[in-house]
Amino acid sequence: MVIGLTGGIASGKSTVSAMLRHRGAIIVDADLIAREVVKKGNPAWEKIIQHFGQEVLDVNHEIERKRLGEIIFSDPEKRRILNGIVHPYVREEMEKQKKEGQAQGKLVVLDIPLLIESNLFHMVDQVVLVYVPKSVQLVRLMERNQLSEEEALARIHSQMPLDEKKKWADFIIYNDGSKEETERQIDHLLFQLFGGAKEFAKDSK
Ligand code: ADP
Repeated sequence: MVIGLTGGIASGKSTVSAMLRHRGAIIVDADLIAREVVKKGNPAWEKIIQHFGQEVLDVNHEIERKRLGEIIFSDPEKRRILNGIVHPYVREEMEKQKKEGQAQGKLVVLDIPLLIESNLFHMVDQVVLVYVPKSVQLVRLMERNQLSEEEALARIHSQMPLDEKKKWADFIIYNDGSKEETERQIDHLLFQLFGGAKEFAKDSK
């Protein structure tokens, strides 16, 4: 069984992912892998330099993500090129880790912030959305990242609204209550999927 876990900025995806890991799931983290594949010497690193030049490198010849971010921020064509370079490597590594987890008979969770926007439904069996109302998302984001209301809203509005994402989800975890309430929903989800939280490790679909 492969769960695709998604959410919006500060909706609590990392929190839920940690709770699932605690219950024995293997977490395949798309953001972590995306940072890994562009490291010095890896294939995406070379291709990025070929396309974007040496100016995206720092003194240690690592790609300066901030610099690259600035370049693609205002240039959709460059963003498309960068995604075209990075995404295939990320997907390949995710598939690899997914297979390893499945071979161990574990519940595999693909943690993919842009699962819905990138249309990656084929990679997972069930889509789980970590949802909070916008008002809660705003307060948590301002607190976590020390942002003004304006800055936080700009980040929230640059993403697909969580209410829109709901339409694509098989399960929704409402994370606007206490963390204990979220834990209970996760247990409920696992119970629904596997007929008991302890049973899921045995399912190796
Ligand atoms: P994401 O990974 O979706 O960006 P996080 O898991 O980092 O979001 O959660 C955003 C912030 O909200 C963090 O500071 C986290 O500690 C806090 N948080 C998450 N879930 C809850 C909750 N149920 N109750 C209170 N605070 C929470």
